[in-house]
Amino acid sequence: MAKYTIDHDRPTCIGCAACEAVAPEFWVMSEDGKSDVKGSKIIKEGNEIKQELLDIEEKDYQINKDAADACPVNCIHILDEKGKRII
Ligand code: SF4
Repeated sequence: MAKYTIDHDRPTCIGCAACEAVAPEFWVMSEDGKSDVKGSKIIKEGNEIKQELLDIEEKDYQINKDAADACPVNCIHILDEKGKRII
């Protein structure tokens, strides 16, 4: 059962690949130079991906928190069960 949600503010991503280096099970670099959350729900505005959301379990929180901490532009957020931002 999902406890947290990864919330990727993709337009802000600068494509540094830190998230993929830290948590390759969840993050992958895309052809357009930005990262994607593997298997996430994609929210688009026109042709642009605005946001990627993926529910994760407690056991996967820390690795994604580490990825968020490594992101230089703070575009990786993690939401709690109520949708409140933890980071
Ligand atoms: S660490 Fe942040 S800026 Fe770098 S690729 Fe990942 S999401 Fe984008």
